[in-house]
Amino acid sequence: MQYDVLIIGAGSAGLSAALTLGRCLRKVLLADGGRPRNECSPGVHGFLTRDGVAPAELLRLGHEQLRPYDTVEVQCLRIETIRPQAGGFAATGRGTADDAPVTLTSRRVLLATGVTDVLPPLPGFRELWGIGVLHCPYCHGWEVRGQPLAVYGQGRTVTGLALLVSRWSPDIVVLTDGPGHLTPNARRRLRRQKISIREEPIARLIGSPKRELQGIEFEDGSRLERAALFLHAPQLQRSALAADAGARLTSKGAVWVDAGMETSIPRLYAAGDTTPGTQQALLAAADGNRAAILINESLTREECPK
Ligand SMILES: Cc1cc2nc3c(=O)[nH]c(=O)nc-3n(C[C@H](O)[C@H](O)[C@H](O)COP(=O)(O)OP(=O)(O)OC[C@H]3O[C@@H](n4cnc5c(N)ncnc54)[C@H](O)[C@@H]3O)c2cc1C
Repeated sequence: MQYDVLIIGAGSAGLSAALTLGRCLRKVLLADGGRPRNECSPGVHGFLTRDGVAPAELLRLGHEQLRPYDTVEVQCLRIETIRPQAGGFAATGRGTADDAPVTLTSRRVLLATGVTDVLPPLPGFRELWGIGVLHCPYCHGWEVRGQPLAVYGQGRTVTGLALLVSRWSPDIVVLTDGPGHLTPNARRRLRRQKISIREEPIARLIGSPKRELQGIEFEDGSRLERAALFLHAPQLQRSALAADAGARLTSKGAVWVDAGMETSIPRLYAAGDTTPGTQQALLAAADGNRAAILINESLTREECPK
């Protein structure tokens, strides 16, 4: 085997795992296959000692702090396949689409490949994503506190999110973009928090050149001024590697892991947004650290049999 551990994905989870495994003198390849989920956001909030740091700067610091650990190799490499073989895995990947594929072998693989958010196909959502259109009040609620806000979605998801966001602003409108599928109880709970509901179909979001939200235009031509819109968008795995390898996924499409952060495929681990649970950069980093420790302990057990 060429490597002890192949880490796929160099976001918070992957970089943190590489740091810990480097400190264990493990031979690691960190395959950096592209941009992180939050690249369109101006700042990462709630990350201890780095509150508000630009996403690219957080990753730059992560790469910089790997430099002393010469057993850690970082390559721009998009991994395309992983195949179990005796003692570990064979993987293939490419630097760019034009490059010839490279093959490598590793005793363990850590998937830190993250997720992607599927935004409604309406003009404005993608363009304003990360500034005027937000996914999480814990990450960005403070920046828009006290302002007129919208919460987009239907049914239980939008009810829960609107009630949560009401912590940050007393002026909230739920936008269901067609029938809201809200139960009488949900409507009552929203009313109690003075949250109004608009069920008209939306034509587009209106934004400023700085990607701030200015308002919402409905199909009937009417407009509603709002400073930001929150939604819980459905998510997809950023890579199909786990599914292609036959690893178990949860009903919500996350990569299932056991208490030892191992997937249903022996020696294949996963950490960060790709796994179930709360999604935050700091938690992804903590997850990467924990997975690295568990992987090092599993390798140590293999090297020091009873
Ligand atoms: C708009 C937005 C703003 C956010 N703001 C905040 C915030 O303020 N505070 C906060 O705590 N959290 C925030 N988050 C959440 C945070 O971005 C994620 O929780 C965090 O990025 C998860 O880290 P990760 O390492 O698991 O995944 P990612 O950061 O998504 O990293 C995964 C990496 O794997 C790479 N990859 C995927 N497939 C392959 C492959 N086949 N080969 C090689 N590499 C691959 C991807 O290119 C990516 O670089 C925000 C999210 C969004 C969408």
